This record gives sequence, C-alpha cells and structure tokens, in this order.
Amino acid sequence: MLTAPSEFYLALPTSIHLKPTTFQLIAAMNPCPCGYQGDVAKNCRCSPDQIRRYQDKISGPLLDRIDLQVQLMPLHRGELYDAATGASSAETRGQVELARRCQYKRQGLVNSQLDKALLEEHCLLTSGQLELLENAANKLGLSARAQHRVMKVARTLADLEGVKRISNPHLIEALGYRGLDCQSRY
Ligand SMILES: [Zn+2]
Repeated sequence: MLTAPSEFYLALPTSIHLKPTTFQLIAAMNPCPCGYQGDVAKNCRCSPDQIRRYQDKISGPLLDRIDLQVQLMPLHRGELYDAATGASSAETRGQVELARRCQYKRQGLVNSQLDKALLEEHCLLTSGQLELLENAANKLGLSARAQHRVMKVARTLADLEGVKRISNPHLIEALGYRGLDCQSRY
C-alpha cells in the first residue's frame, strides 16, 4: 500500500515493513515447476500449460517493471572451474560508474528515473527504430510501460559504450532482455 511518494508498506505473512519506494529489485525463479525448461542436459517434464500457469504467478504489471529478464543456464561438468573469460568485476564496475556519471551530467538523474518528457528528450529513436520497437512490442505483447523501459535500457547500453545515439543493436539487445514477456505469450 502506498502511503507517500517515497515510502510503502510491505506486508509479509508474519510482519509489516515500511520501505522506500526507490529500490532495486533482483529476483530469481525457476523457468518451470521442474526447473529444467531450456536445459540441454536434462529433460523438462512440464506441459506448456503447467509452464504458463507457473509463470503467470508473476503479474503483468510487476513483470512490466522488471527491466532485465534473463534466463541463466546451469553450469555443466567442468565449467565451474574453467578460467573466467570476459571483463572482471572491477572493470565492469568502472564501466557502470562511468555510464552513471554520464547520465547525471546529461539529465541530472539516472535513466531508470526518466519521466515521459525526459524519456522523449534523451532516449530519442529514429523513425526506423520506432517502427522496430512497435513491431516487436506487438509481437511480444509489450505494454506502453514496458516499451518505455526498453528505451531506457537501450539508452543505458549506449551509455555503457559511451555513444550519444541509441543504435539498432542497443534496441535489439534491450528487447532481448524481455524474455519472460516473450515466453508468457506462448
Ligand atoms: Zn519443467
């Protein structure tokens, strides 16, 4: 229940907590009741109907607000101890700090806090990109809110690269992070 713009009550089965409304939610769930959907090494025993019912436990309005929905595959034998590849945590942290500084400099707040007017000003898309977004949104059943959040994620991907304009690959990558929206259509 919202009490003021900055705080809300979180009711759990045994307690109630007053929390700030500005927070970052990181959550995990199995892809299906048995947990093996999409796993190449093990067979999922769930029917499409069971999977849909399971995933429908997350309401559309809540799903809309989860910007990065990514399916992680389990590590298989040997992979756990393989040498790490890609950027280190320290390098990634530096890249994120740089992108946040660029956002504060450009608009005074981070991309996730942009309202509609600032979104239109700072997450500018070409007519071709708007068409791409609209087509994908129709296909995936994305709400207006989800489309705006895709634009903010695309803006963030451009910031992480240190470029001024959102490009098609940024937009396509941002759409690729709406995995649960996509699955919930089938
Ligand atoms: Zn399953």
